[in-house]
Amino acid sequence: MSHVFHRSLLSDPPLAVRGEGLYIIDDEGNRYLDACGGAAVSNLGHDNAKVVEAVRRQAETLPYAHTSFFSTQVLEELADLLVGQAPGMEKVLFVSGGSEAVEAALKLSRQYFVEIGESQRRLFIGRKQSYHGNTLGALAVGGNQWRRRPFAPLLSEGHHISPCFEYRWRDAGENREAFGIRVANELETKILELGPDNVAGFIAETIAGATVGAAAAVPGYFARIREICDRYGVHLILDEVMCGTGRTGSMFAYEQEGIVPDMVTMAKGLAAGYQPIGALLTKGYVSDSIRDGSGYFQHGHTFMGHATAAAAALATLRVIRNESLLENVTARGTSLRQKLQAELGSHAHVGDVRGRGLFIGVEFVEDRITKKPFDPDIKLHQRIKTQAMHAGLLCYAMGGTVDGRFGDHVLIAPPYTMDVTHEDEVVRKLADAVTAAMPA
Ligand code: PMP
Repeated sequence: MSHVFHRSLLSDPPLAVRGEGLYIIDDEGNRYLDACGGAAVSNLGHDNAKVVEAVRRQAETLPYAHTSFFSTQVLEELADLLVGQAPGMEKVLFVSGGSEAVEAALKLSRQYFVEIGESQRRLFIGRKQSYHGNTLGALAVGGNQWRRRPFAPLLSEGHHISPCFEYRWRDAGENREAFGIRVANELETKILELGPDNVAGFIAETIAGATVGAAAAVPGYFARIREICDRYGVHLILDEVMCGTGRTGSMFAYEQEGIVPDMVTMAKGLAAGYQPIGALLTKGYVSDSIRDGSGYFQHGHTFMGHATAAAAALATLRVIRNESLLENVTARGTSLRQKLQAELGSHAHVGDVRGRGLFIGVEFVEDRITKKPFDPDIKLHQRIKTQAMHAGLLCYAMGGTVDGRFGDHVLIAPPYTMDVTHEDEVVRKLADAVTAAMPA
């Protein structure tokens, strides 16, 4: 019996023993093509020598120095590189993962308003069918009903508007722009309902990932959101923990939306899984208000700014830049989506193939015309995940796509180092898994 408190206590997962390019190999010699990078984490595959060497060198030189005493060269270089690639951002706070980055964003937003004398601003608005992390603050602003339900009594006040999820919620006869404006305008309605002086921030995933499966906003949506936030002095916080660090073909997903948020979070792929690290980037006016006020952000963790984690992130970003991997993300993403569309697009139970770059969602339905989802009790997504693993493929499968209970999708988020032969293997194995998983 394992003493590890695994995610499921009903069965122990297989033992992963080795990584080889895009593959993970288990203790029985089974090879799994990692088509989701775990959870959009392993964007350089599992054996990148340059990142491993950077980690080794940093651990040998100075593995860790507490940030209340020191900065380190590697942390300074990482911040310079990130800010240089993040339009509008000026400072970076380093943490150890996505939830921590979101918690830091909420607290920074709140402290900003305290510093400038608007301490009544305390409310955050998020979107339904979103995910921002499992810690209590992040869970409160998230809109994933299944994850929230058992802990609801512990969560602070959370307010949610509709997601910009075109496949499910654009009305027949409504054009894309009109749909985007309609759902964005819900933010203004919510701010007015709560009282504009009480609202600190609005948080959204630039491309909604885990909960709905790579649903990008329609054109014009984020421009309208930005306009509303500006009108009421509300922070726009974009969560790019999953869709950032190059996954959609630009270093930040917001670059493709023509707007700049006040703060943006990242994590997961930032060190490609070689070390745990997350980051919160902010516009200068936010950090300036703290410098000119109390001088001190009242937040911190023991492992923030961890030197070895920073070395892994710096090496990851350099590999992405020096090997022009963003171009590969765009090229492979376009062709992988086309191949998935060709193979699965007309399948009786595939409703939608969507996404941007190497962030691709496939949504399953019982009926393509009505978009009726499968009975959640059959757990179709789980069946697809299991069949895919049998076929030697890892894909990120989730249920509750529509409303937290109904709906099934898989997320495909392979390493940026994938080539054309991997595309074909992903499509073939996923198609076989889908066929095998369908109820008789
Ligand atoms: N935000 C988003 C958009 C995420 O997808 C996730 C993780 N799936 C998180 C936050 C939380 O990150 P972590 O699991 O590293 O705490």
